[in-house]
Amino acid sequence: MARFEGKTAFITGGGSGIGAATVRRLFDEGANVVVADLQQENANRVVAELGGGDRLLAVAVDVSDDGQVVAAFEAARQRFGAVDYLVNAAGIKGWGSASDTTDELWRSNMGANLDGSFHTCRAYAQASEGRDSGAVVNISSQAGLEGLPARLPYVTSKHGVIGLTRAAAMDLAPRGIRVNCVAPGIINSPFTEAMFADPERARKMRAAHPIGREGRPEEVASVIAFLLSEDASFMTGAVVPVDGGITAGAASF
Ligand code: NAP
Repeated sequence: MARFEGKTAFITGGGSGIGAATVRRLFDEGANVVVADLQQENANRVVAELGGGDRLLAVAVDVSDDGQVVAAFEAARQRFGAVDYLVNAAGIKGWGSASDTTDELWRSNMGANLDGSFHTCRAYAQASEGRDSGAVVNISSQAGLEGLPARLPYVTSKHGVIGLTRAAAMDLAPRGIRVNCVAPGIINSPFTEAMFADPERARKMRAAHPIGREGRPEEVASVIAFLLSEDASFMTGAVVPVDGGITAGAASF
């Protein structure tokens, strides 16, 4: 299967978790992949795991910094020419309530989760001027679809990612570029590792998903690959839960 042969994907957060699983999936399906992450060594590690080679490029980028994003897109252009696909998997979590969230926590969540996706969407859209096809997948969350206690900056940023997805989808549809979003439930990755350290909490998190377990990064990556592919050619502005059913209905009462 080589759905993406000859295409190039730029994947932020590509050095870990869902982003790394997406790198592997698209690489296995033939794409050239730019593995962009905050820490160069994490991007390098994923590239090395895949055997290196001329279809992979590791770049360090802080997506909250527009200048770094523009430079990373330029590095991608120099190496591969056009960038066909963008996946925004970089992100951080932020615990804080309506009363105790600090300005610093608010800004760091907005910076990594929302500004970051905006910066890359804009750089991608500008780099795609004159082209007539392409696709973007952003990563929101269960927390982008509903409120959760004591996660105010994260919840707000992930709601924003859905707004960004829909607005960009409107702007880019006339150019043949589709923009969609996945909203994962709890996925087993470095992001959630600490949350699973407490067995009772782990049990509750698993039980909250009707499917009865957390997800695997590969289970999100396969939906991202679908949304990027021509199999999803009539989808844009969509928000696709990949969440074991956690947002499908209210808990029993
Ligand atoms: P992860 O394993 O922690 O990977 C996220 C990656 O993004 C890390 O390599 C992180 O680098 C990088 N990153 C953080 N801030 C960045 C920045 N400013 N610029 C560039 N890279 C940055 O997490 P994941 O589970 O794969 O999560 C990926 C996305 O899915 C996130 O947006 C997250 O909000 C979302 N999501 C995750 C879950 C879940 O349960 N795992 C559920 C719903 C949504 P460092 O490690 O160096 O910080």
